[in-house]
Amino acid sequence: MKHTDDRDGLKEEGVPKRLLSYKEALEALLPQVPSPVSIQTPLLSSLGRILANSVSADRDLPPFDKSFMDGFAVRSQDVVSAPVWLKVVGIVAAGTSSLPTIGAGEAAQIMTGAPMPPGADAVQMLEKTRAVEGAFVELTESVRPGQNVSFRGTEVKCGDTVLPAGRSVNAADIGVLATFGKTEVDVLNTPKAVIVSTGDELVAVDQRPSFGQIRNSNGPMLWALCQELGVEAEIFPSVRDNPEEIAAAIDKALESDLVLFSGGVSMGEYDYVYRVLVERGVDLLFHKVAVKPGKPICVGRKGACMVFGLPGNPVSAFVTFQLFVRPSVRQWMGCGSGSLPQIEATLLKNVKQKPGRTFFKPARTLWRGGGFEVEPVETKGSADLAGFCNANSFLIMDADCTFLAQGSSVSVLLLDGWMG
Ligand code: AMP
Ligand code: MG
Repeated sequence: MKHTDDRDGLKEEGVPKRLLSYKEALEALLPQVPSPVSIQTPLLSSLGRILANSVSADRDLPPFDKSFMDGFAVRSQDVVSAPVWLKVVGIVAAGTSSLPTIGAGEAAQIMTGAPMPPGADAVQMLEKTRAVEGAFVELTESVRPGQNVSFRGTEVKCGDTVLPAGRSVNAADIGVLATFGKTEVDVLNTPKAVIVSTGDELVAVDQRPSFGQIRNSNGPMLWALCQELGVEAEIFPSVRDNPEEIAAAIDKALESDLVLFSGGVSMGEYDYVYRVLVERGVDLLFHKVAVKPGKPICVGRKGACMVFGLPGNPVSAFVTFQLFVRPSVRQWMGCGSGSLPQIEATLLKNVKQKPGRTFFKPARTLWRGGGFEVEPVETKGSADLAGFCNANSFLIMDADCTFLAQGSSVSVLLLDGWMG
């Protein structure tokens, strides 16, 4: 299959021919990510989503002059000095709309959140009053005008912007949206993902592997990584290393927004995924990137669907998800920066590597004594997920760097939930 698109000499016969650096790969990838689309979602489903539009107040807040103490509503001019006795002419509960009028020498008992009765301009808290005797109360301290009263519109005015577009909705924002009656919220859409694991050796988690077989751990792991990003994912049954089966899975998967393949993307005899992707019309952006772990990774697009062929080795699948899928999906969802947060940390042990690829070495980072400290997590290679799962970060070693000395300041990418 001959591809006409040969910009930058990256492609030949549908497959990019040059090993890209991580930076070059991201530069090729991110402009291909579809633009975010706005949808309406029910209030509770907006948690963690990005607001498509700013949100404005549909009413003043507070919507009426209200007491923010339990106590007595008074005319402040009657309580310039204390103690003073006032006649109690009513009781005002939160939620009431029938209010007594407060005249000279009068007060009304009032609850937190209740509307101020006409005539009163201050509230004396219950703790600064003495027992009501008959219809009277004794105020033991004077009050200032407006004391303990929250006046209409002092927090928010009707029409004010209360949440800006582009914000990720948090729990307090859900409360703000509820305050202003937003039962539906305009948010940016999240792509729907499908996960297809490939490999003749794979059996489902609930099956007993025979000799030569292993359980499909990438399917559930990639699903969990999608969940962490707020992306709904469906795990397809795993597919054998057979071009027809892979083609059928690709055709079905392409109906979704985002497809994550695992396995079958390197150069082995039975690694069919990238070849079948090209045959099925997926425009591959690249097939190899100079990163470690995870050099074979193919990324492509067909129409509005993005396809990632991740390596089968579990650690490589995890790392390449973080390096390539995460920034793409976060951009697609409208989140500002999609890459993992990068910090500087003091290295606790010497680290060596062979040059040639940017190394994202599994590491454990802690905040200690006012700074970050990082220690490599030793694994037995890119299949060793049990060793890798103790990492909460990646220590970055540039492709031309072969040695990092203990005590030096190094760059680290923090994984989501790194503090846990
Ligand atoms: P591949 O990328 O297909 O060459 O696979 C590389 C290694 O990852 C092999 O040892 C596979 O058995 C293993 N592997 C592939 N897919 C999975 C998977 N879904 N779950 C766990 N291990 C896998
Ligand atoms: Mg395989």
